[in-house]
Formats: sequence, C-alpha cells, structure tokens
Amino acid sequence: MHIIDIISRKKENKELTKEEIKYFVKGYTNGEIVDYQMSALLMAIRLNSMTDNEMVNLTEAMLNSGRVLNYEGVDKVIVDKHSTGGVGDKTSLVLIPLLASLGYAVSKMSGRGLSHTGGTIDKLESFKGFNVERTEEQIIKQVNEIGCVIVGQSDDIVPADKKLYALRDVTSTVDSIPLIASSIMSKKLALGAEIILLDVKYGNGAFMKDKKSAKELAKKMITIGNAMGKKTIACISSMEQPLGSMVGNALEVKEALETLQGKGNKELRELCIDLASEYLIIDKNISKEEAVLLSKSKLDNNEAYEKFLSLLKNQGVSEFEINIAKNKKEIFLNEIGNVKDIEAIDIGMAAMKIGAGRETKEDKIDLSVGIEVLKKVGDNVSNEPVAIVYYNDEKNLDESIELIKKAYTLSKEVIKSPSLIEEFII
Ligand code: URA
Repeated sequence: MHIIDIISRKKENKELTKEEIKYFVKGYTNGEIVDYQMSALLMAIRLNSMTDNEMVNLTEAMLNSGRVLNYEGVDKVIVDKHSTGGVGDKTSLVLIPLLASLGYAVSKMSGRGLSHTGGTIDKLESFKGFNVERTEEQIIKQVNEIGCVIVGQSDDIVPADKKLYALRDVTSTVDSIPLIASSIMSKKLALGAEIILLDVKYGNGAFMKDKKSAKELAKKMITIGNAMGKKTIACISSMEQPLGSMVGNALEVKEALETLQGKGNKELRELCIDLASEYLIIDKNISKEEAVLLSKSKLDNNEAYEKFLSLLKNQGVSEFEINIAKNKKEIFLNEIGNVKDIEAIDIGMAAMKIGAGRETKEDKIDLSVGIEVLKKVGDNVSNEPVAIVYYNDEKNLDESIELIKKAYTLSKEVIKSPSLIEEFII
C-alpha cells in the first residue's frame, strides 16, 4: 500500500477501504507518513468529504492508536459527556457530580481553555491543590468509591488525533464535519463509556455557528457512537448568548456551586436537569417527568453537591474557598430598552482581555477575573448595569468594557427570552 495511491483515490472521490484508513492513521502517527502527504490527504477529505463507513473506520483507527481505558471491576454504568464548548459553559461542573449522585460512574477527561472558550480543568484549578493527573488505578478506585473523576488530557489516549488536529489547524482543514466527528468521538470512545451525551452548541460563541451544521455534526457523531455499540444522545443547544450569568474561571465555579446546592442560575439548573434526565430515560426507560423529578431532587437535597466536594477532596483539595478578583466595575449602556441580543463571542473576548482566557497555549491565565452578565436576552434595561467586570489589572480594562457594550443590542420591542435547548437527537 502507498500513501500516494490513497491520496489519489481520495482526490478522485473514491471510498477508502478500512485497510487504507488504518494504514494512513498508523503511518502518520508513527512518523512514516510525512506532513506534506498527510496535508494533501486531509485537503482531499475536506473537499470531497467522507462516507459514513469511512468516518466510522477513521474513528476506530484513531481510537486504536493509543490506550483505551478498561473499567473491569466497576459495576456501575459508565457514562460520559462532551460539550463542543462555548462562553460561560460550566455544565460539566454540575452535570458530572449530578450523574454520580444518580448512581452513574463518570470518568471525564477535560481540556484547558483556548481563546474565548473556557476549559473545565482551568475552572477546577480555582481550588488550590486540585490535581488533574490520575493513574488508571486511581481513576478506577475513585469511580468505584464516589462515582466521578475529572482528569486532564493524556498523551497516550488517541495520539493520532493530537498529531492530526495540529496539522488540520495549520492547513485549513479543521472545518470538515467527518473529521471533527471522528476526532471528538475517538477521544470519547477511548474512555470506555457506555452512554455518551454530546452537547452540540450553535451560535456566535460556539464552534458550530448555525443550527444546521450543529445538527449535522451531532448526527454524524451519533452514527459513529451507534456503530461502535454505544448509546449516544445529542443535545442541540444555543450559544448565541453566554450560558448562565458568570464568565471566567472562579466565577463559573461559584455559579456551579450554587446550582449544585439547589439554587443558582435558572438557565444552568434547567440545562443540567434536562441533560441528566436524558441519561435516565435512555438507560432506565423511565418517563421524562420521572427523570426530571429524580434529577432535581439530587440538586435540592445536596447529594450532587456532596459528590462534588468528595471529588475535590479525592483530587487534592482541602480548602473549598475560591478567589474572586476584588476590583469590580459595573457596566452601563446609557440606553434603555429590552435586550435583543448578546454576542457571546464578544463577552468571551472581553473576559479574555482582562486575563480569563489564553490567546496561545502557553499563556498564563488569571483564574479570579471575569464578567457577571446581569441582563440576558429578553430582560428590560432602564438605568441598571448590564454586567459587572471583576478584574485585577487595569491593562486592557477599557477594551474589555467596550467589548461588553458592543455585545449588547437593545430593542424597543418586547423580546421573548429564548429557549436554550433546541432539541435532543438520538
Ligand atoms: N474538537 C475536537 O476535539 N476535534 C475537532 O476536530 C474539533 C473540535
């Protein structure tokens, strides 16, 4: 088999065989296939797309390029969740302990934030001492004992994706639905979950900018999950305005902690209850009403909160205080009306300007800073502030404030508060 023949066949829009796909994934991962040939193949895939067969075979080949976790000895149902990310998306911090309190085992591998989107690992590091490194033995032990663990990305899980993603990033081949779907699903499948829920977000603050492409990606990921024998559900949800009210690491943790104690932001609470309920419905075949009641009860009786504290303790945290920047500035719009739109991306960029996010992977971030979004779409604004900026350093503060003001569009008309979840796809 030769890589040039594989490139030629894909260039002519022929379907690649399982063997050809295994050959190029293995060859590229171990360095036998060079970047310029792989770049040509990626561009041919980007332009001609992939059949479902090719996409499933690619996912399987990538999954098998590294270690696959094995949960022998865990007698709970293993579940996982993935969000395509966005601004103020702290869902994992609530959903993971909530699922553990419902009796599931959640073993989650999370990343750090880049650009305007945050990462769960950064958020958790708002707690002094939080340890993101766990051995496989520690993961199994923690999952058995408390039902949840959150670890950082490990180099030996799907190494093919790490190399391929870096190449896609510099060859304008990221925006290929089959390549995105196989990249995400290979990492999910390597963690061995039996039920996978994908929160696919659309909107200006999300990776997928519109509903149509979010749905298309969701369907492809479900195709892969089902082909690999996993129950896979997708939630299509909006990222047209920030999720909840807090944006920035420690601030998002604060909002998650409130939600875990049965209080907090209504929008975040409802999203987490709806997501948790989907696992119960698909796993236990119970009604939506029953599933919602059960999920709500675990937030209201603090069981989910206790799970979160156990997770923190198990992963090195002894003090549960988080540090939020002391300097605050209220933002006024000098305009009255009803909020028609809040560009999530501008709020994300505003938080990044004051240090909450990274421009490059190497940047250090300030976990204590961020933005509290006081007025959301549908709210009336008279003379009150629309947001509060929490900051340490005045450098870039003005720029951040300008971005927040720019994010808002007011209208004289009455605006209905939009629903967050568009639909669930199974
Ligand atoms: N996230 C991933 O993990 N992979 C992609 O290809 C795109 C987003």
